[in-house]
Amino acid sequence: MHDVIVIGAGVAGLECARGLSKAGADVLVVDRADKPGGRCATRSFGGQPADYGPLFIHGRDVRFIAAVEQAAEGDCLPDWPLRRLGRGSPCQPDAYAPNEKRMALRGGINAFPRALAAGLPLKLNTQIVSIARTRGGMSVSSATGERLEGRNLVLAMALEQTMPFVAALEDAEGRDGILALLRLFISLPCLTVIAGYPRGAPVPDFDIQYPEEDHALMLLCNESSKRPGSPQVVMTYQAAPRWSRERMEMPKDQWARELVAAAARRLGSWADSPEWTHAHRWRYSRLDRANELAGPLEMRVGDSRVGIAGDLFSPGGGIQAAWLSGGKLAERLSQEPSKLDL
Ligand SMILES: Cc1cc2nc3c(=O)[nH]c(=O)nc-3n(C[C@H](O)[C@H](O)[C@H](O)COP(=O)(O)OP(=O)(O)OC[C@H]3O[C@@H](n4cnc5c(N)ncnc54)[C@H](O)[C@@H]3O)c2cc1C
Repeated sequence: MHDVIVIGAGVAGLECARGLSKAGADVLVVDRADKPGGRCATRSFGGQPADYGPLFIHGRDVRFIAAVEQAAEGDCLPDWPLRRLGRGSPCQPDAYAPNEKRMALRGGINAFPRALAAGLPLKLNTQIVSIARTRGGMSVSSATGERLEGRNLVLAMALEQTMPFVAALEDAEGRDGILALLRLFISLPCLTVIAGYPRGAPVPDFDIQYPEEDHALMLLCNESSKRPGSPQVVMTYQAAPRWSRERMEMPKDQWARELVAAAARRLGSWADSPEWTHAHRWRYSRLDRANELAGPLEMRVGDSRVGIAGDLFSPGGGIQAAWLSGGKLAERLSQEPSKLDL
């Protein structure tokens, strides 16, 4: 029986688990993926990292920026992206607001959650399919039938992944109100392709391009520009929400080909023939514009407490909001030690 089980090892769940651990709780973080980080995703190709979720970190909360800089240990590329082309929309409306700090991580954005996860008990490759109240607290069951027990529970997944678990807590105080509130918000899909080009391919003269009138592409990112001297040109192409939604259930090869062709129309014919590609389907990439709540939510279920954190639960959305909401939830849950039974 753990004090708290955190479902979701993204930035929100990890920061929450860190706060709870510091307060003396016995915490277990569970995630269905084989590594922590959630949407802060990086993949390595021949030793060269490439980001395919968020492409850089931005924020203005000094504690958040300090946490990223500390986690990245000199790996930060401050002010990236410097060379921005086009007047299309960035992923997060605030990304280029005045006073917003921006940085890329040379080792890839996943270095941030990886650092947050250091020293935390993680149970990976464990997809949670149901949660239920038990006599002593809460039980959490995995797709393989394993049962984990916790006195308290934190849900730290994408909004749409969180809602079925909230709905399952029939005797949770305030459940219907919370569900009604959560149903007001929506996450956007994003189809993404990472493309590697042969040596000698032209190097684009931008870090990020946001096309204005392109129904397919939301952005083109020159990943190699984060890593001067990288052996090959690597690009990440991210599709616009509507285009992504229309193709979400189509075979990956089909939309990946279309997205590369759309990029080639902007970059030149060389971009139409990558040496390799990796396509990823983000069903829930980020929240729609201006979707945000002021803080994390909490429900009582018998003697247990169930907290909800994530990018929805702090102003501004995105990674900063995920981190802030996780920290705030940990603070709140630790404020009443008797209830947490620490
Ligand atoms: C393409 C893309 C572009 C983005 N651009 C930006 C940007 O420019 N700026 C910005 O700030 N943010 C951006 N974001 C959003 C940002 O990545 C997220 O807001 C943030 O990472 C969310 O963190 P989180 O911890 O709330 O959720 P997540 O990172 O989604 O973590 C949730 C975790 O829960 C796990 N999980 C889900 N269901 C289960 C289950 N049933 N059982 C066990 N584990 C489960 C998942 O595997 C995941 O690891 C972007 C995201 C994407 C995908």
